[in-house]
Amino acid sequence: MNKTIFKGSAGGIHFGAGCPKGFVPATKADVENSLKNPGKMKFWRCNVCNDIHIGTGFPSPCPTCEHVNSYVEINEKEFRKIIGL
Ligand SMILES: [Zn+2]
Repeated sequence: MNKTIFKGSAGGIHFGAGCPKGFVPATKADVENSLKNPGKMKFWRCNVCNDIHIGTGFPSPCPTCEHVNSYVEINEKEFRKIIGL
């Protein structure tokens, strides 16, 4: 599946085939901006489809695979590797 970057309000980022509710298409520059000022946001990866997400929480159900509570916390290094930064 073709994965793209989406952004939400308050710096949230999603990288996947599906777009979380309320998110809009974004760029890698938007991701860098979120990484500069993460606040209380954490890094998340879907255990089923490997979508990744920056936010205080994760989308449930996942916008791509529709599984519930399928995200685990990851670190910034893994996040950057997956998104290609
Ligand atoms: Zn998923």
